[in-house]
Amino acid sequence: MIIVLLGPPGAGKGTQGERLAARLDVPKIATGDVLRAAVRDGTPLGLEAKAAMDRGDLVPDDVIMGIMKEALAGPNAAKGAVLDGVVRTTPQASGLRDALADLSKKVDAVLLFDIDEEELVRRLSGRTTCDFCQRPFFGREPGELCGLADHDPQGTLVRRKDDEPDAVRKRMQVYRDQTAPVIDWYRANDGVLHHINALGELEEVEQRVNNALGLR
Ligand code: AMP
Repeated sequence: MIIVLLGPPGAGKGTQGERLAARLDVPKIATGDVLRAAVRDGTPLGLEAKAAMDRGDLVPDDVIMGIMKEALAGPNAAKGAVLDGVVRTTPQASGLRDALADLSKKVDAVLLFDIDEEELVRRLSGRTTCDFCQRPFFGREPGELCGLADHDPQGTLVRRKDDEPDAVRKRMQVYRDQTAPVIDWYRANDGVLHHINALGELEEVEQRVNNALGLR
């Protein structure tokens, strides 16, 4: 199953995507995580992407297509994948369709996480992120160790530069201008769009995701 997660920053795509991927036993592919790891490691990809990311702007489509194709062609993705934040422009949506067609696959479901902007700003202003595993935390301070047992070396919690208020505003605007049209693209092209109410406890939202996909 290939599942695309759509929605504004802070809607919970990463958290729900991780749970869904574990449940389906497929990888979660998150371009944001790949890019942040590249920035952290100072690779050419990271150097190219850093300025746009810090501003809250999108990284060019061709860079994203490269990451997407490599991840989809990997052996881990043979059974499917959960794509978190990978499709943010209509050229990326058509690029993904073509890349999947080359692998005799298609997008099976698109989950759109609906949530109001006030809640997003509230969530993002209280978020820290592990600089190693990239998981988000709420109510924990920068500088603390991540503490999750499943990765070594331990990561440190940091505030993402793009979670600062100016960058958050920019990301919301980028979402409205460039990513919202992707919703219409999927509505028209694939007929696989499901709306998920993203407000509420993690488990409630997870249940809505499972219901939308017909998982028990
Ligand atoms: P995220 O972790 O998904 O919020 O992504 C963080 C940042 O990485 C975004 O604000 C963009 O600068 C960049 N990025 C991640 N995925 C994409 C994408 N599919 N297209 C363009 N830029 C992206």
